[in-house]
Amino acid sequence: MMNNQGVLVVVSGFSGAGKGTLMKALLTKYDNYALSISATTRNPREGEEDGREYFFKTREEFEQMIENDELVEYAQYVGNYYGTPKAYVTSGMEAGKDVLLEIEIQGALKIKQKFPEAVLIFVTPPSAEELRRRLVKRGTEPVETINARLSRAAKEAEGIEDYDFLLVNDEIDECVDRMHGLIQAMHARVGNHLNLIRTIREEMKDF
Ligand code: 5GP
Repeated sequence: MMNNQGVLVVVSGFSGAGKGTLMKALLTKYDNYALSISATTRNPREGEEDGREYFFKTREEFEQMIENDELVEYAQYVGNYYGTPKAYVTSGMEAGKDVLLEIEIQGALKIKQKFPEAVLIFVTPPSAEELRRRLVKRGTEPVETINARLSRAAKEAEGIEDYDFLLVNDEIDECVDRMHGLIQAMHARVGNHLNLIRTIREEMKDF
């Protein structure tokens, strides 16, 4: 008997590290993933749709969600709230999907406390220069916001010891496959197969 529960995967990394692109590529290339959509109070960027990239909320709505205990975790990031809705995470894992959370570090650490079996992956670009170049190229934010994000990024590296894996995103296709490999390896953890072990041990006794 297998334990078919999916793996909870938390992906964090410097803003501009390419996490979003990685998540999309994973979802396109493999069918065992489900991406959790967060709620946020920040404004939609051009091209973003409510219910696709995020559930866009007012501060009041977000605080109501906190009050109603609808979030697994939430955090403030550069002046806005971001949080993970509960319902999707638990139902996805129960359905055997590997559930992806693309969240910042405070949230990631809260997830690790609540779900010790979650796997935390930190994604980094090869250098700070490359990071800045990507943020400027994306062109979705004014320079001040980019600078605020970069200085927040510098802080984020402080919690990196608590992550399980580090991925350097230099070449996207390679990085996607390495990430998939890490996550699939988590399925083989002994803790996921205690039922199987128990059954085999029982059967052995009968010989
Ligand atoms: P962005 O504004 O660039 O979309 O996201 C800013 C940061 O918030 C990113 O580091 C992103 O990973 C993080 N984030 C997105 N959704 C959530 C969430 O539900 N919870 C937490 N804690 N962080 C989130």
